[in-house]
Amino acid sequence: MPDESASVVVIGAGQAGLSVAYYLQRLGMRAGSDFLVLDRGPLAGGAWQNRWESLRLGSAHRVHDLPNMKALDLSFDSADRSRPARDVVVEYYARYEEFFDLRVRRPSQVTAVFDRGADLVLRSTTGDIVAQAVVNATGTWGAPFVPYYPGLQQFRGQQVHTATYSAAEDFRGQRVLVVGGGTSAIGFLLELEGVAQKTFWATRRPVDYMDHGTLSLEDAVTAVAAQDAAARSGRALPSIVSGTGVPKTRRIAAGIARGVLDARPMFSRLEEDAVVWPDGSREPIDAIVWATGFRPDVRHLSPLHLHEKEGGIVVATGAAERDPRIFFAGYGPTASTVGANRAGRVVARQVFAAIGNRLPQPAPEPLPEPALQPGPQSAPRQGRQAPAESGLPPQPARARGSFRPATGEVPVSNRREEEKDAVSILARFFADD
Ligand SMILES: Cc1cc2nc3c(=O)[nH]c(=O)nc-3n(C[C@H](O)[C@H](O)[C@H](O)COP(=O)(O)OP(=O)(O)OC[C@H]3O[C@@H](n4cnc5c(N)ncnc54)[C@H](O)[C@@H]3O)c2cc1C
Repeated sequence: MPDESASVVVIGAGQAGLSVAYYLQRLGMRAGSDFLVLDRGPLAGGAWQNRWESLRLGSAHRVHDLPNMKALDLSFDSADRSRPARDVVVEYYARYEEFFDLRVRRPSQVTAVFDRGADLVLRSTTGDIVAQAVVNATGTWGAPFVPYYPGLQQFRGQQVHTATYSAAEDFRGQRVLVVGGGTSAIGFLLELEGVAQKTFWATRRPVDYMDHGTLSLEDAVTAVAAQDAAARSGRALPSIVSGTGVPKTRRIAAGIARGVLDARPMFSRLEEDAVVWPDGSREPIDAIVWATGFRPDVRHLSPLHLHEKEGGIVVATGAAERDPRIFFAGYGPTASTVGANRAGRVVARQVFAAIGNRLPQPAPEPLPEPALQPGPQSAPRQGRQAPAESGLPPQPARARGSFRPATGEVPVSNRREEEKDAVSILARFFADD
């Protein structure tokens, strides 16, 4: 049986993947034929379907609406803030996919992407697909990070990561060690207070509390610049907290005053049922909560050898420098709901500019909203135009088989874009490692 083919495959249907799909559609590409969206999750909602039950919409920092969600008369801003965030997001994303007919295929996990010369071949649990371009929008949830410490294998108690944390109740009456210097760790410690028998908190660096209760735009711009610089140079992405510090909100200040947020330097080793501190003292513990962050979930891209020796992938203009057919949305500085929206718009334009000339005919019916203008640097002027924009059938600009790499849609240094990403950092701050 011949492989299925599509011009573009979007891997992941979280905020980033849906946003890319929405904008590809607005550029005149058809979901289900010109582009396919695959997601390994059983439900709509991206990583949100897996978040713990006690994370309410009101306690998540802010979930931004998907692009043009208002067309469905839906907004997270007016949703019931007391409901679990995961339930609301699953419901709203599902309605969004249906309304815009994005035809997400699930569950379908991409296990590997291969370079077959002119084409890319995606191996998935629902079959092989030949594509000209891939948008990787796989987030980080599937790649929880747990640092190695001596004795880790010997520890016999319960261990969870942010990705598998369910509820404080699971630790009732236990002595719990929380590891990590970010806001997830702080949130867990505050939630465990009065439920666990005792909590201990270990951080790699002293927690850098800021005097004020909110991040300033300047702090966030600095953090974005650090993430962006890492993404451009192929280094592993730094955590947000390392670039900003933790704002001392009233809740956090009260936790410090009560002694719940008493960070200790990292332990020197674990034993079967205890943690051993650098001064040699030993504390019995029943459980460990690793709030130690996530890494980009890109294992399926390993056959493409995109990684630099520094540990990251160079993504300077939305696509991998080592293979410009592999685009990234929701990566690095755009890993938040608002950042993912913007990445979706930028990446869709880049993909369209790169492969729009090779799309089969005919064009679909224009959508009611005004069509998106492809970016000036990336749009082939004589190439396939979004139907509502040109009103004419699209014309191929280049010979079949050619591939135009993404151009500098995201300038190396642009204060306005950095500020937009900074806003996205602010949005994601309270959830970061
Ligand atoms: C605990 C926590 C709380 C957060 N809270 C907020 C918040 O309040 N506000 C905010 O703006 N941001 C928050 N964030 C950041 C959040 O990650 C982003 O906001 C956003 O949801 C990420 O969207 P995404 O589409 O990039 O990734 P995801 O939502 O993770 O979506 C990726 C999708 O890709 C799929 N996938 C992965 N690998 C494969 C594969 N190989 N094949 C097929 N499918 C695959 C997954 O199933 C998933 O559906 C939080 C993050 C964490 C960890």
